[in-house]
Amino acid sequence: MAERSEANSDISRLLRPELEAMPGYEAIEPPDQLARRLGIPAERIIKLDGNENPYGPSPKALKALAEYRDYHIYPDPLQHEAREALSRFLGIPFEQIIFGTGSDEIMDLVLRAFLTPGDGVVNCPPTFGMYPFLTRVAGARLIEVSRCEDDFSLDLTAIRAIAGEAKVIFVASPNNPTGNVISKAELDALLSTGLVVVLDEAYVEFAGGSFVGRVAEGGNLIVLRTFSKWAGLAGLRVGYGVFPPSVAEVILKIKQPYNLNVAAQAAMLASLEDADLLREHVRMLVTEREELLRALAAVPFVEPLPSQANFILCRFEGIDTGRLQEELRQRGIMVRRPDSPVLSDCLRISVGLPEHRRALIEALNEIGGSLGASR
Ligand code: PMP
Repeated sequence: MAERSEANSDISRLLRPELEAMPGYEAIEPPDQLARRLGIPAERIIKLDGNENPYGPSPKALKALAEYRDYHIYPDPLQHEAREALSRFLGIPFEQIIFGTGSDEIMDLVLRAFLTPGDGVVNCPPTFGMYPFLTRVAGARLIEVSRCEDDFSLDLTAIRAIAGEAKVIFVASPNNPTGNVISKAELDALLSTGLVVVLDEAYVEFAGGSFVGRVAEGGNLIVLRTFSKWAGLAGLRVGYGVFPPSVAEVILKIKQPYNLNVAAQAAMLASLEDADLLREHVRMLVTEREELLRALAAVPFVEPLPSQANFILCRFEGIDTGRLQEELRQRGIMVRRPDSPVLSDCLRISVGLPEHRRALIEALNEIGGSLGASR
């Protein structure tokens, strides 16, 4: 008797069965864990695996966080102050903007707003792993249309062919991890499919040429952006979506009321006040990206790909990239190994400070020899 009631109380059998086989999101290792493992101080870790901003937040954002007093009061569910400030900053109507706990949350909200179980979502790998992950969590059907192998551009013919079976398409520009952007003609082609086109511009500040101004009432474009990269607020989780106003209304209705927390909002507002400094950091990172590209290209066994973002995808032909990643880790340097099978011989390296570049290049030259790479 006792046994039966115990068996009945095992709620795991009630879980959605499809979640058991579902792969989780492959998160990056926290740097303090690695520091502990290596027995070195956390400040010595060179973190080039998360596309974070090595210049950190604006000093004005840090001051705003320290001086803010009303942490005991809930945030404004309608995000008035934040949306108004960003509206002035971008020159985009207030009604079109909604903030999220990072742009990751906005992706999830978009799927919740548009999908019913079984609806199709187009994903174009290799790309950001969050799109397939959230699609699966939503119980939707993932339709993968691989990017072209030579230049990682979108396969528009294949996308057009399956568009009728899907509702939403995710496209990152610049794309993570390949660093390339989509052209206006490609965006027009995507929009002409009639799908909900979710254009993820998380890295656009490093590339220029945002399409955010093209979001309009009656259109099918949604643009996602973030303060994680250009403004150095990844840890505070401040992202936003720009929507046609009628869609924004629904997103506002279904989001958790307090999703933009007061600390995130205070830091975001102060960052806008300090935009000139943050833009200068972006300029320095773009210059450093080109320096890093040149330095990597000079290492005999590395083939870096040009990038419009704050990271560089590198091919290491004939080298076990898992071992190489671990060798770098042993030297306190963290880089990302893309999870895509077509990039099994690649590592993605975030653009850091000039001294990070020097340490990385030194480590690569040292390891290259020990891995027996020659080319
Ligand atoms: N989009 C892309 C393409 C990304 O690479 C990332 C972060 N790695 C994000 C969105 C996430 O941005 P956020 O921190 O605003 O959630």
